Amino acid sequence: MKTKVQLKTYKNYVNNQWSTSKKTREIINPFTGNPIAIVPEASKKDVDGAVAAAREAFDRSPWRDFTAQQRGRILFAMADMVRKNAAMLAELETLNCGKPIVESEFDMNDTASCLEYFGGLATKIHGETLPVPDNALNMTLREPVGVAGLIVPWNYPLMLAAWKLGPAIAAGCTVVLKPAEQTPITTLEFARLVQENIPELPKGVLNVVTGDGPTAGRAIVESMQVDKVAFTGGTETGREVLKGVATSNLKKVSLELGGKSPNIFFSDADLDAAADGALFGIFINQGEVCSAGSRILVQQDLFKKFVGRMKEMMPRIVLGNPLNRDTKMGPLVSEEHLEKVQDYIEIGRKEAKLVAGGRRPSSKELKNGYFVEPTIFESDNQARIAREEIFGPVVACIPFKDEDDALQIANDTPYGLAAAVWSRDIFKCLRIVKNLRAGIVWVNTMQPCYVESPWGGYKQSGHGRELSLHGIEEFLETKQVHINLSERPIGWY
Ligand code: NAD
Repeated sequence: MKTKVQLKTYKNYVNNQWSTSKKTREIINPFTGNPIAIVPEASKKDVDGAVAAAREAFDRSPWRDFTAQQRGRILFAMADMVRKNAAMLAELETLNCGKPIVESEFDMNDTASCLEYFGGLATKIHGETLPVPDNALNMTLREPVGVAGLIVPWNYPLMLAAWKLGPAIAAGCTVVLKPAEQTPITTLEFARLVQENIPELPKGVLNVVTGDGPTAGRAIVESMQVDKVAFTGGTETGREVLKGVATSNLKKVSLELGGKSPNIFFSDADLDAAADGALFGIFINQGEVCSAGSRILVQQDLFKKFVGRMKEMMPRIVLGNPLNRDTKMGPLVSEEHLEKVQDYIEIGRKEAKLVAGGRRPSSKELKNGYFVEPTIFESDNQARIAREEIFGPVVACIPFKDEDDALQIANDTPYGLAAAVWSRDIFKCLRIVKNLRAGIVWVNTMQPCYVESPWGGYKQSGHGRELSLHGIEEFLETKQVHINLSERPIGWY
């Protein structure tokens, strides 16, 4: 007789309590296609409840009187909690989003480092005194922006939540955090760990609701009680967020959106290092990376050799059970996303030349997972696969003539998140760096990301910056205070 597996059922975390929603959602393991948990599908009313808790905590709770040191210590405690539970959280992250376990372990380390960084930053938030031309003291106070709605995508679930939660808590905000509907498990476990390990955090400061974008996400965006939305997701969703902000209370908003980042290789680049960097730039995390080097621009005389070397190296990208330590590529996050990526591969077959990949693996072990082979096309920059964000393991390789041509192609995109340039000629590299319209530019590497350095895009890749000293600005207001030192009346009338 078949026994039915009891799925773990989660609840929303609101005001330090667990609450249900009328509707629920099954969370799927993308490697097996089987459900692994049940989570609430928050309604607008559920979200409004979480926002009310955050509002109350911001306006009236002891949180207002927490010193910067105390806020910093909360973040250190969260980081410590993540480090102690890293193995469990990494495994859940892999089960839920399909990324190789080794990558999930890196994510947990980065999550903790991010919380530590902003824990340290809590005591370094300060205003300035300004030399106004009067007998007066003029200064600025930096204050928390208020209730922050944090909306997170599915590709780095807990890490991207920390990118927002760290600065929000350091600044003194209260939050309603909504993970992506596909990948909420580590965020819910994080809330459980906070409840168990950090009792000094006042109720209502951290609230987690799970639900989809059009209902739960929209309810956060359109709430009149939310002061700021920190959003990471697709560019089209970003547009919806801006509309919701415009028609509600004009809350502050930061947007980390999509990309179509160029990875540029000149013919004097070290061929092996460059081909390796090209593969890493696009295929890490199944290509589900906002800064993925999804356009590989190669100088004409090297182009054939370069693409050939990439193809030769492709078998090193081992598809497999993402819990195996030697797996280099797991399944895509969901069946729906797999269909989207496959559609783009079909488009690519018609408009470009397929060099490698493009199929679904046929082995018995992988047949239930949402796998697709890493896929390389030779293309021009006008093809749809070179213009639209695929967000999967599909890359367009595009030849260019010279420096000017490389720059023209690299910048010919609506996006501007990241870019990389590879050459032994430092003058050429720096000219390219200066003229690229992108928020992050790497030289002779691609993808390193540090909490100490700002992250964010030009053009339609978003507004504002996360991480670094810039990241905290997004959660602060600036108040000018003017103190008159003259005892004489103004004397105008
Ligand atoms: P998505 O835009 O579909 O969803 C992102 C989040 O927004 C989810 O939590 C979703 O529920 C919510 N959402 C959806 N519709 C909403 C609405 N109308 N109002 C409010 N919230 C809504 O994106 P995704 O598919 O989860 O993630 C992939 C996208 O995220 C890619 O475009 C990728 O480039 C981008 N991304 C950007 C960065 C960055 O730092 N720039 C980082 C990671 C991912």
